Amino acid sequence: GSKCSSGVVPEATENNPRPNLSSDAIINLDHGDPTMFESYWRKVGNACTVMFMGYQSLSYFANPKNLCWFLEPKLEEEIKKLHDVVGNATVEGYHIVVGTGSSQLIQAVLYALSDPLNEPNPISVVSAAPYYSSYPEVTDFVRSGLYKWAGDAHNFDKDGSYIEMVTSPNNPDGFIREPIVNRAQGMLVHDLAYYWPQYTPITGPADYDIMLFTVSKCTGHAGSRIGWALVKDINVARKMVKFIEINTIGVSKEAQQRAAKILEVISDSCSQTVRLPESDNFFEYGQHLLTERWKKLREIVRCNKLFTLPKFHPQHCNFTGDFAEAHPAFAWMRCKEDVDCEKLFRGHKILTRSGKRFGSDPKCVRISMVSRDEEFDLFVKRLSTVQGIANGN
Ligand code: PMP
Repeated sequence: GSKCSSGVVPEATENNPRPNLSSDAIINLDHGDPTMFESYWRKVGNACTVMFMGYQSLSYFANPKNLCWFLEPKLEEEIKKLHDVVGNATVEGYHIVVGTGSSQLIQAVLYALSDPLNEPNPISVVSAAPYYSSYPEVTDFVRSGLYKWAGDAHNFDKDGSYIEMVTSPNNPDGFIREPIVNRAQGMLVHDLAYYWPQYTPITGPADYDIMLFTVSKCTGHAGSRIGWALVKDINVARKMVKFIEINTIGVSKEAQQRAAKILEVISDSCSQTVRLPESDNFFEYGQHLLTERWKKLREIVRCNKLFTLPKFHPQHCNFTGDFAEAHPAFAWMRCKEDVDCEKLFRGHKILTRSGKRFGSDPKCVRISMVSRDEEFDLFVKRLSTVQGIANGN
């Protein structure tokens, strides 16, 4: 369409019980808090309830025979099933390591890939800018002697071994990525947190050496803190398990059991035979919501002429069987004028994350696209009033 109007704040509904954000409320779109999916899970209702009796889950151990002895067998089974149903990763021939969020697995993998006996100096950790802002923080937080953040992979010129984080689709900009440094001494970690059909077309099963996934971005249950790694090399998997053993002696069984149930429900929602009457296909539901949000956002951006957004080419998605473009969990917005974009938005009570945090330009910000409806609608409405300096703001 060509008419430029502002968004409308919706009425309260059963699926959307918190519409009463005042029109001048602060909108926090800094974190990628995936509350957008709440509306789906409300519809699922009791079909995803998990109960625990007092006598359950007392033991530290979940599966003593498994390499990852704290991994609940039911979660392992549901992880494999879901990857099979979605077709986004190969599980055959991989070891599964569960973590307290993929955040813990990132730390475990840095530990597992560093080799203090053969490498007296900390191994360099790189990722191509704009990179996920947690990588530098996690890498350098406890000033480990094993590894050290070395910045943007595009500028990495040190000899010797290194770890490259390859985030695909990328946080913050949503693009599909390949490794940048490409040297023999490199070790790659593929962070595939967003390689799910609601965000991006699934073009084939990923089969990299080390792949990280998380329930947070897949189903929206960030609060359960469950992530998993698919690891080819048994020695790397062993070292990751050791790290988690020392760090937290395993991962909450309740959280794993609940995650297993949630994954089971979304796998079932995708299959024609076991579909629950009250639930749509989870990924199609999410994809539909994100498609609508991106449409609204692009329309406002087109109208106020102050920002640009990344463009995505349609690709065939093996999961849906259709051609679609990406609808990332974040909008990476670039201001056309020479301003601190995060500040500009803060002036309009919209909290975003500055491009600087991603090793990039302060003219850019990352904005969460996975908030609740009412926050997103208020954001779009307010964005339509943001003007640049040239426009007399
Ligand atoms: N990797 C990427 C690329 C992410 O965006 C996030 C969450 N923002 C994580 C890892 C960590 O997710 P969690 O610890 O919630 O599993």
